[in-house]
Amino acid sequence: MRLDNQLWESKYREAVDRLTREEAQWRAVESVLRQLVASLTRAAHGAHDQVDPHIERLSAALTGGPADAMVLETLSNSLRDALEGLATRPLRSPEDRAIPITRPQRGEYGSSVQSAMHRLVDRIVVQPKLADRANDLRRDVADAGDLVGLATCGDRLADLVNEQRIGMQREIDALQAVLRHVASRLDELTQYMARELADQSTGEANGQALDASVAHEMRLLGEAVLEAEDAHELRERVNVGLETIAACFRDFREREGTRLTAYRDRAEKMRQRVEQLETERNALQRSLEREHELAQTDTMIGMPNRLAYEKRIEAAYESWLTTSRPLSIAAIDIDHFKSINDTYGHTAGDAVLRVIGQALLKHVRPVDFVARYGGEEFIVIFDGADEAESLQVSERLRGKIQHLAFHASRQPVRVTASIGVAQFRPGDSPQAVFERADLALYTAKNGGRNRCVIG
Ligand code: GH3
Ligand code: MG
Ligand code: MG
Repeated sequence: MRLDNQLWESKYREAVDRLTREEAQWRAVESVLRQLVASLTRAAHGAHDQVDPHIERLSAALTGGPADAMVLETLSNSLRDALEGLATRPLRSPEDRAIPITRPQRGEYGSSVQSAMHRLVDRIVVQPKLADRANDLRRDVADAGDLVGLATCGDRLADLVNEQRIGMQREIDALQAVLRHVASRLDELTQYMARELADQSTGEANGQALDASVAHEMRLLGEAVLEAEDAHELRERVNVGLETIAACFRDFREREGTRLTAYRDRAEKMRQRVEQLETERNALQRSLEREHELAQTDTMIGMPNRLAYEKRIEAAYESWLTTSRPLSIAAIDIDHFKSINDTYGHTAGDAVLRVIGQALLKHVRPVDFVARYGGEEFIVIFDGADEAESLQVSERLRGKIQHLAFHASRQPVRVTASIGVAQFRPGDSPQAVFERADLALYTAKNGGRNRCVIG
């Protein structure tokens, strides 16, 4: 939104142009006045002693540039004096005159001066307040019976010219004052507008409505500059226009305020809703994570279960496919576990499984992964280890199990495990490697149990 000072500038220029045109007309009037004086000078020079000094002064005044008010007054006074001289003094005899000229008769002077002045007065276009005086002057010039009367008219004409010029100058000054006033009010409004726009998040619709209203008011204001009869009326109209624009701003502010309040309410509700959703989402995510964790945990022993193994082996397999790092697994099965259950009870069996599971967790290397595959079977992933290295760790695990101290009825209970080891080879899938490890496990069983076999 921009308040357009150009409109004002153009209106101002139009007004000044109008005054300039009037000024030009008055210059033309002045020129005719000069011609009048010149013709009088030519005609009367040397014709009368008393008139000559006035004629000299008129001639001197005529040599100057454009007349200002004082010169005009001097011209007018001289003209009146010269005309009076011609009218009241007797003419010198032709013999007395140094340069003989064709002497016009009194009436001829009168009629030529009268018609020149008549032409002059006819050309005058004056401000409305001077119109009556101009009309009176026209009438008096037409009615003037002699040169004295015409001289008085010349005097009044000079006054009229001067007043018109002073009036025009006043009008220009008043116009400039009004325009300065308008410019400063527009500056205020522009600053006000800038503050409004900075303070508030402006609704586009409100902004556009304001733009349209202000543009409309500015147009009316611009028209008022030319329609106004005088500066006072102009100032009144400008003030009314500016007040209307200020009202537009107030209205805009009010609407923006209402809009902003509603917007803040909505934003606050939205914020609360988002906060609530965020809380719900976090709770849901926590419960999902917990479920996910539970889904992959063997709760009896407190270690990863078969599902966790499958996810882990799939990831290890994917990375094995793209690297040269070896990858192996070991399938561990407790030997004759059924007889432990049968002899010492299922609860004792559970306890044995828990102890073995914890032992495996404790003794695998940090890089290894161990899970309860099911029943009394466990599985280990040796990431980065070939079968030989895996066999070595498996042997260690087997030894740890063998040396766990179980007792039942104060009697030591011997627990061992058989282990089948298999390494991933080109073309293998996790399932294929698992089957090879399982096969090796049964080879170990068949070979007498409590041993490790590579598949
Ligand atoms: P093998 O040396 O051939 O492996 O003999 P085994 O007795 O260990 O093998 P089998 O497959 O015959 O028996 C496994 C037993 O493990 C049967 C089952 O009752 C027992 N078992 C499986 N899961 C659990 C469990 O969670 N707790 C207990 N106490 N026993 C379990
Ligand atoms: Mg088994
Ligand atoms: Mg078994």
